[in-house]
Amino acid sequence: MSALILDGTRIAQQIRSEVAADVRGMAAAGVRPGLAVVLVGHNAASEIYVRGKVKACEEVGIYSEKLTPPDSVTTAQLLALVDDLNRRDEIDGILVQLPLPSQVDSKKVLVAVNPAKDVDGFHPMNVGLLSTQRPGLVPCTPAGVMEILKRSKVDVSGREAVVVGRSDIVGKPTAMLLLNANATVTVCHSKTHDLEAVCRRADIVVAAIGRAGMITRDYVKPGATVIDVGMNTVTDQAEFDRFFAGNPKREETFRKKGSTLVGDVHPEVAEVAGAITPVPGGVGPLTIAMLMFNTVKAARMRRGSRIPELSQV
Ligand code: NAP
Repeated sequence: MSALILDGTRIAQQIRSEVAADVRGMAAAGVRPGLAVVLVGHNAASEIYVRGKVKACEEVGIYSEKLTPPDSVTTAQLLALVDDLNRRDEIDGILVQLPLPSQVDSKKVLVAVNPAKDVDGFHPMNVGLLSTQRPGLVPCTPAGVMEILKRSKVDVSGREAVVVGRSDIVGKPTAMLLLNANATVTVCHSKTHDLEAVCRRADIVVAAIGRAGMITRDYVKPGATVIDVGMNTVTDQAEFDRFFAGNPKREETFRKKGSTLVGDVHPEVAEVAGAITPVPGGVGPLTIAMLMFNTVKAARMRRGSRIPELSQV
């Protein structure tokens, strides 16, 4: 039996419509949420991500501003820029696109962002608020994972969840959100012994590893829900064949573009899982949708009004 496909594009669109309605409601009260995105230098991938974020702001009615300091920017200059954004009342969210050039002390810059405007949810203050179940800003991709589970009516409470990956931006906050939602959580990483057996215990597997197709069918209990956060670009024909041989749609894209996107979960897992997120079109679209949500949330929180929570935070 093949798995139910959890359509992230549809869920993200739903959230964006809700956020747009919220923004319209705020406009009636004379408030327009604003997001500032800091994009340093000319990193091609970062430029694409930022373009997507600015476009999403336009679509939902959020004011956005792009600041583009040069590659040669110093830590002190970036700190001054963040300080200025912290002070400006019309800016509710500040996003510093990573990675920053090597001469910049990234941690220092991220900690300088006012936690109330930290729409990425990376500030230690927001990390602490999440782990103590207080209202705060939650990292976008993990919040998106929870929205997929919630809106697809996947039971989390009391279930065994295994998160593979322990990064500060994906693995750890996802594990914390699952724990806050009453799952029994195991966090795995590169030193975990017998990862296959640990994953096979799980009712919910979240893969955030950065290794193309690493989670094969042997890692998955039949009927489990599998959330694939991974985004890996495959350009090698042999690797492509390992995942998608016999898939005419993928073969056509690969022929045309010379590359394709694959998650951390092997496509064969769809034959054993109960439900699975595709790549592309799974977790990816939720990240920007949750950034829009966080910007509106930050605007409300700074103005001291209660807001409806999309996730179970
Ligand atoms: P990361 O910082 O590189 O962390 C990867 C994690 O995977 C680490 O904890 C690492 O363990 C673990 N790992 C690596 N190899 C492993 C192995 N063989 N067995 C078990 N664990 C292993 O990556 P990240 O930033 O969390 O991102 C993870 C993936 O999600 C990437 O593919 C990234 O592109 C994708 N991503 C997608 C979105 C989205 O919007 N969809 C957003 C962010 C990231 P150690 O800690 O022991 O090194």
